[in-house]
Amino acid sequence: MDQPTPHPGPSGSEAQPVVCASCGTRPPGEIPPTWTCSVENGTRQYFCVDCARANLRAIEGRLDSSWW
Ligand SMILES: [Zn+2]
Repeated sequence: MDQPTPHPGPSGSEAQPVVCASCGTRPPGEIPPTWTCSVENGTRQYFCVDCARANLRAIEGRLDSSWW
């Protein structure tokens, strides 16, 4: 059976899968409380523990993540 691959995009869905915006790691279920949420340009982005720690200064500085 062929299953169409869902296309990630600005569909406005609240049920979009959560992945680390830096390394692409996915939590097994709900978003772990240790993950960091950063809202940039109106887009909610999550970072896993390792990436959040590595990018903590950048997140706190509210810098654009495009240069990561
Ligand atoms: Zn990560």
